[in-house]
Amino acid sequence: MLMYGPSSDSLEIAMLERSPLLRDEIADFETVCASRKLNSVKIMLGSLRDTVVSLYSVYRSKSGSPLISPVCVFSPEVLAALESNYNLTYEGKSLGDLRVEILKNSIGNFCSLCGARPFYGLDHYLPKVIYPEYSILSSNLVPCCSQCNTKKASIVGSANGRFLHANFDSFASVESWLHCDVRSDAEFVDTVFSVSKRLPAAVQGDAEFHLLKLELDSAYSKMAIGELISIKGLLEEAFLDGGEIAVIFELRRLQRSIVRGFGVHFWKNALYEGLCADRGFVSGGFAKIC
Ligand SMILES: [Zn+2]
Repeated sequence: MLMYGPSSDSLEIAMLERSPLLRDEIADFETVCASRKLNSVKIMLGSLRDTVVSLYSVYRSKSGSPLISPVCVFSPEVLAALESNYNLTYEGKSLGDLRVEILKNSIGNFCSLCGARPFYGLDHYLPKVIYPEYSILSSNLVPCCSQCNTKKASIVGSANGRFLHANFDSFASVESWLHCDVRSDAEFVDTVFSVSKRLPAAVQGDAEFHLLKLELDSAYSKMAIGELISIKGLLEEAFLDGGEIAVIFELRRLQRSIVRGFGVHFWKNALYEGLCADRGFVSGGFAKIC
């Protein structure tokens, strides 16, 4: 039985903390094979069982890396049958519980790729059009939003960088994977998000690839505007009560609450770290929030 989940002792996976999902992935394949209506497809898929077991093992041992997972040569009929297995994960189908279980396991209903927007469905980490053998592999499926799904498309990455894998990649750090520069010296408050230079070197390139390809800097900066507007009044009151120190105190209080709810890698943690670090912002620059 193949189960998936982080192999390290850390559960801080990608953008959000979450519990590992335990799933018998071979049983899922067998369930789908048995429920295919066309007998010829059922027999064809059944004959692939051992191949699929072996491919699932490779996937898990290599944490889904697109750099080592071989693209198998299947006939067009087999490719179509493997890819269409995914249709049986929808509501009311034989593997509908797989989709429900993965989505239920997401934290705060957030997308696992950006960790910020609500999910709308599942993303195949290794795209099913290229790797149909993993179309129903639970390790290969993560909740995602429509924007990330569209931007990720069928890109698989290269030796220079790949997307972070929400089921396997761990930053293993108590600090955010993100860094936020706050600029409050112009007429308005601006934010720029980048990958923290303090991340372990092994994951730095992939994190930068992930941020760039999904255009997360721009996404987080847009969302930061709403967050800043929502706290402007609180900061004005704090400043009247105790000046710059009281503003920092209020920002740290809000930041702690965010970390308690969503973990250190949630994008807002980086935002609040950046706000506290910007002297211009805490000494009155927050008045430029608009
Ligand atoms: Zn997303």
